[in-house]
Amino acid sequence: VARDPNQPEFHQAVMEVLESLGPVVEKDPKYLPVVEAICEPERVLHFRVPWYDDKGMLHVQRGFRVEMSSAIGPYKGGLRFHPTVNLSILKFLAFEQVFKNSLTTLPMGGGKGGSDFDPKGKSDAEVMRFCQSFMMELQRHIGQFTDVPAGDIGVGGREIGYMFGMYKKIKNEFTGILTGKGLDYGGSLIRSEATGYGCVYFVREMLKVKNDDFKGKTCVVSGSGNVAQFTIEKITELGGKCVTASDSSGFVHDPEGISPEKLAYLMELKNVKRGRIQEYAEKYGCTFTPYDAGLDHNPLWLIKCDIAFPSATQNEINEKDAQTLVKNGCMAVGEGANMPTTPAGVEIFQNAKIMYAPGKASNAGGVACSGLEMSQNSLRVYWTRSEVDAKLDDIMIAIHKNVYETSKIYGRDGDYVFGANVAGFLKVANAMLQQGIL
Ligand code: NDP
Repeated sequence: VARDPNQPEFHQAVMEVLESLGPVVEKDPKYLPVVEAICEPERVLHFRVPWYDDKGMLHVQRGFRVEMSSAIGPYKGGLRFHPTVNLSILKFLAFEQVFKNSLTTLPMGGGKGGSDFDPKGKSDAEVMRFCQSFMMELQRHIGQFTDVPAGDIGVGGREIGYMFGMYKKIKNEFTGILTGKGLDYGGSLIRSEATGYGCVYFVREMLKVKNDDFKGKTCVVSGSGNVAQFTIEKITELGGKCVTASDSSGFVHDPEGISPEKLAYLMELKNVKRGRIQEYAEKYGCTFTPYDAGLDHNPLWLIKCDIAFPSATQNEINEKDAQTLVKNGCMAVGEGANMPTTPAGVEIFQNAKIMYAPGKASNAGGVACSGLEMSQNSLRVYWTRSEVDAKLDDIMIAIHKNVYETSKIYGRDGDYVFGANVAGFLKVANAMLQQGIL
């Protein structure tokens, strides 16, 4: 804490992992120096990103890339464009990414980057000029064997396309230096769907342990972006009913459920029109609750559900929200977002013994599919939709098995937080020890 003051999100992510590693270090003290090294990024890049708006006004944004660990492969992790982006948030995300990527079974190190640029309300031309300026600096640091960024909040197909185009122009080479690319130029089928689908596959595996499934389950989903949209799609396909969606302005509650037809409207609204979630409520005559910064809880989690899927952003479920969910009979939580539950909230879930899937395990499908995109780029082939989906499903089954088995080995059966932290750590730690901690 003294070394990195004012980095609360990073401290939160590190503490959560360190709490799990005690029994590992006790059993084998050779891991102690690794624990210290793994908390320090291998490299942090911080740069200026100037860009001109449509009126010719100059703006200066901050750009970052945190290269956390290359122990098991090239740095890999998304770019986030959001006004709240700072070094603490990117370090927490990069740290989480190391363990997540380790769990995927694929050879990927961990990193994260982004900018405090806000794409909301900007024209396509403004977003393009920003992305080009961002890539002018980032191109020095990335490469197919070095660091392969992807999308995250505020960075979707449009932004990836503009950045890829700029990289190609500067370097005069067509290589897979970004994932989440368009299908016309090296993207993978199922990449857009992968995080949401993967999260639902993971929860399906948790339910299976209890001889249960999604049929007839009411699910509450937060967010309405990439992860939320495909979480809703897959839950509905497996027989569940999703009754909420949200954005930063509030949430909608549709007790009849977000049907495939309503989801198609939501996708058009969010991805093409770039509109607000309130318009969904207006179209389908359901309730819209505006965001209220004065509340000590998030009213979305007051909606009664069997399973909760936080899929918007970090710390969106606090202690009070977790208590409400448990009180209302919620039996499982599948985190689509990164670190959406505060530590006090996690404790409530664990004490209540509900099935709780931490994001670093349950949302690993996105980066896993990015790994599959890298493989296809290297091989210069395209796999079919069903091939990629089947590989994704297999990976999520393997992650669940690894996490669950690890929790059992240490006598913590079904503690998915512990299992994910320890299983993710051991692979990276062993690689570091074998390579010498440089
Ligand atoms: P998107 O930008 O597509 O969507 C984010 C959604 O969350 C939007 O509905 C957005 O609303 C809402 N949101 C963002 N910030 C806030 C906030 N501070 N308060 C309330 N609502 C907010 O991002 P993704 O769906 O890609 O990402 C969502 C989460 O999933 C993030 O935590 C991300 O790190 C994580 N994740 C994403 C992966 C991916 O493959 N995309 C992979 C693994 C994890 P609005 O439009 O109003 O901003």
